[in-house]
Amino acid sequence: MTSYADFHRRSLQDRDGFWAEQAKLIDWHTPFSQVCDNSRPPFTRWFVGGTTNLCHNAVDRHVPTRGAQNALIFVSTETNQERIYCYADLHAEVQRMAAILLELGVKKGDRVLVYMPMIPEAAFAMLACARIGALHSVVFGGFASVSLASRIDDSEPVVVVSADAGSRGGKVVPYKGLLDEAIQLAAHKPAKVLMVDRGLAPFPRAAGRDVDYAPMREKHLNTKVPCVWVDSTHPSYTLYTSGTTGKPKGVQRDTGGYAVALAASMKHIFLGNPGETYFSTSDIGWVVGHSYIVYGPLLYGMATIMYEGLPIRPDAAIWWSLVEKYKVTSMFSAPTAVRVLKKQDPAALTRHDLSSLRALFLAGEPLDEPTAKWIAESLGKPIIDNYWQTETGWPILALCNGVEPQRSKFGSTGKPVYGYDVKLIDENTGQELTAPNQKGVVVIEGPLPPGCMQTLWRDDDRFVKTYWSSVPGRQVYSTFDWGIRDEDGYIFILGRTDDVINVAGHRLGTREIEESISSHPNVAEVAVVGVADQLKGQVAMAFAVLKDPGQSDTPEKALKLEGAIMKVVDEQLGAVARPSRVRFVTVLPKTRSGKLLRRAIQAVCEGRDPGDLTTIEDPSALQQVKDLVAG
Ligand code: ATP
Ligand code: MG
Repeated sequence: MTSYADFHRRSLQDRDGFWAEQAKLIDWHTPFSQVCDNSRPPFTRWFVGGTTNLCHNAVDRHVPTRGAQNALIFVSTETNQERIYCYADLHAEVQRMAAILLELGVKKGDRVLVYMPMIPEAAFAMLACARIGALHSVVFGGFASVSLASRIDDSEPVVVVSADAGSRGGKVVPYKGLLDEAIQLAAHKPAKVLMVDRGLAPFPRAAGRDVDYAPMREKHLNTKVPCVWVDSTHPSYTLYTSGTTGKPKGVQRDTGGYAVALAASMKHIFLGNPGETYFSTSDIGWVVGHSYIVYGPLLYGMATIMYEGLPIRPDAAIWWSLVEKYKVTSMFSAPTAVRVLKKQDPAALTRHDLSSLRALFLAGEPLDEPTAKWIAESLGKPIIDNYWQTETGWPILALCNGVEPQRSKFGSTGKPVYGYDVKLIDENTGQELTAPNQKGVVVIEGPLPPGCMQTLWRDDDRFVKTYWSSVPGRQVYSTFDWGIRDEDGYIFILGRTDDVINVAGHRLGTREIEESISSHPNVAEVAVVGVADQLKGQVAMAFAVLKDPGQSDTPEKALKLEGAIMKVVDEQLGAVARPSRVRFVTVLPKTRSGKLLRRAIQAVCEGRDPGDLTTIEDPSALQQVKDLVAG
């Protein structure tokens, strides 16, 4: 067996040889003539001269060998539906959708905006776009009209694919009204709107613009639409970042590099095998949904579960019942979901036979140690934290246990993944930090490996300025996250570069303080922000959600608990890190992808305008903070 260290080293030192080998995991219509063209950095081109097609690789090529095998397993606990598409079914559905898009006027290079709940037609639409060389731009179904309008204007879609409604916790969430409003607001007007009618919420049709999916599908039941062979560098899609730190950025991805990177990641990182079942609990509106609900598993000939519903409805055993039923081998979720489960009875997790499951992968935000330990112990399975960004499309840091089994360390997101030349940089001097246990900004030496962003949609300038210009004197890709590397090469992510606060000259990561506070047995979740202070420059302010809110239901109890939590921080980090206040809330302001909106909390604490809030999940959460600060 190759050691992982050798594997990683080879991926950098013999970059082209390494990736040429990985490129064999997919089909090429025309072979590439050059593996990596980095003559115009940072605009790297992968597999130049090659032509291929994402949909061919995700669907068509599997039909002869695994046509009857499960490809897409749709489970909705919202509408109590369960539908299974084998690869042959998926092949037929995608061609029907592609035929409809062609009839509606979509051409190669055009954009199609997908504003959909978690239903199979959303995946059909994405794959159909790839099939005909159009770019999809999926907008998370939970967004309302203003966020949607700005994305319509940015991507200028020819067609929007949508549905009458989503459903959350048993409540129907109508989409069409929001979509109509968004189109009204937007300067760009899509020519056609293709509507999937789930029969959940009646909606009006705009004459000449809105088209119903069901009759169109009937019409094209047997239409064959061949895959359009596109250049490896042909853009496959655009997708917006979560907007945790500001206005979302429109990430643009290629075709060939993305296909190779994802197929390879299924093997080396996600421990998948063709024919097995993969379950990612994300949403197609996020990058994890793109890479690991739709493309990754299908590219690798696996079945993928698409789940519409909450993790705790009808009860906290629902996900694990699917693991048992479909013999899931790899599962991917987010810490925020695990923290939801943590508030439930842990027995629900082991009521089912989980013997098929090899590991649970978690990503998206910091995985605090108490949560990591809780889920690892409750499941009795390896937990593999992995770190990446919408921009990269697949993990930057992880444990590549498919190459060589390695030990997990709590709090660490693993080691640099093959292809990524990860470095830690001193933010003041721009110098590389090579000694262990030094805190620096996580950067990647170019070229970025296959699968990462090509540029920002229609904004090459912003791409270069935002990502490649933060370290003086050299062009490296900045993640804008802090990290520290231990003696064994494991990296620990310490939070975002703008989450550092300065208390009387001491630089503290909000993540460290949060980690300390969450070790208090009654704390379920916490956000720490730096707030301007005349005396100290900044002070830390904490907002915590309690497991047992009863312990703060009188001012006396709250004060006592606040003191106890401060004491924990004093003991673990020192008095300098002690928050000036610990306030109790029932819910924290988060983005719709489940990330803490610290910048908004901070703004409110400082009496400033919280800025772009289009990605906020629950505005009342910010109101709680406002009320506490005012009161
Ligand atoms: P925006 O860039 O618009 O502000 P965002 O950074 O939240 O939004 P994403 O691309 O969805 O958008 O998230 C990537 C970020 O999430 C990373 O840069 C990092 O801060 C955080 N992150 C992802 N995975 C992990 C992880 N395993 N541990 C810690 N942080 C993580
Ligand atoms: Mg980001």
